[in-house]
Amino acid sequence: MKVLITKRIPEAGISFLLEKGYEVVVREKDGLISPDELIRGLQDFDGMISMLSDPIGADVLSTAGKCRVIANYAVGTNNIDIKAANKQGITITNTPDVLTEATAELAMALLLAASRQIVQADRFAREGKFKGWDPLLLLGKGLDGKTVGIVGMGRIGQAFARMVSGFNARVLYYSRTKQPVPYPLVDFETLLKESDFISLHLPLTNESRHMFAVNEFNLMKEGVVFINTARGPIVREKDLVNALKSGKIAFAGLDVYEFEPDITEELKTTDNVVLLPHIGSATEKARNDMAILAAENVDAVLKGKPPITPCGVMGGSEK
Ligand code: NAP
Repeated sequence: MKVLITKRIPEAGISFLLEKGYEVVVREKDGLISPDELIRGLQDFDGMISMLSDPIGADVLSTAGKCRVIANYAVGTNNIDIKAANKQGITITNTPDVLTEATAELAMALLLAASRQIVQADRFAREGKFKGWDPLLLLGKGLDGKTVGIVGMGRIGQAFARMVSGFNARVLYYSRTKQPVPYPLVDFETLLKESDFISLHLPLTNESRHMFAVNEFNLMKEGVVFINTARGPIVREKDLVNALKSGKIAFAGLDVYEFEPDITEELKTTDNVVLLPHIGSATEKARNDMAILAAENVDAVLKGKPPITPCGVMGGSEK
């Protein structure tokens, strides 16, 4: 049986499939995969390991092929129309848990980098601007005794909460349902009004698209720090830029973008934001474990066994 992998992943996932006797084709081209390539992939291959940047919508899935499983190399599956896939008999899987700590660590790193102006300070030092210690140089915001509002208290949100608690910050959270965690659940508006730092850890869904726009930024405290390692379109970027420019948001840290992979000129020319190229899960271990889990999911479905981490209607979970 044949498996298409739409971008090169760590070798462990590829060799797992080869050892099980699959013919594996890795798409080596740079840039985004086209709808035509995806349609051909679904027709010619029994299984596919897809990337979060592959838009596998109802249009691509409208022609039935021989593909029976798409293992998304990510925990988020907002790039795939799961219902349309299931209609064609295709099982969708993702890679939860194995990337949780790596992504929470990145959110923590981004929070510290943004709120302590680490990137700006590095640039300052390299540009030869450091002429001596200065009491007012590059002042930032510390976590000690501050309130961190977490939106989406799932796997990554909980790991991130544990990390910020170690910095002596108070955690509160908003999720649609109460989670078994030792932090207070508050309504969305209270979180916006009471937090000194806000970090997003919820999936991109129809409900969460543009959940953060001008009204939400207006409700926040003056000088809040805003971190997004979830998905770009949860935030209306134009409004975020305005809030950064007015100082309503003192600092922001972004790993994801509304128009990804494009980053708007407005964002790139705004000083008080740290911009990362979607590297939340980018540790060697997480990416390796994601590769193995995706390959195991493909193998399970193609052998007629239950997938390990299924999503959506056939999998029984919307995550
Ligand atoms: P998870 O365990 O499913 O947690 C998501 C949480 O969000 C759940 O607790 C859910 O709780 C909450 N939620 C869902 N819809 C919500 C809404 N409209 N408002 C408020 N809360 C909502 O998922 P995870 O493994 O932590 O991953 C979270 C997201 O992080 C992924 O979906 C992905 O998009 C993103 N991510 C990004 C990177 C990166 O590289 N930057 C890496 C990994 C993951 P309720 O259902 O109770 O609301």
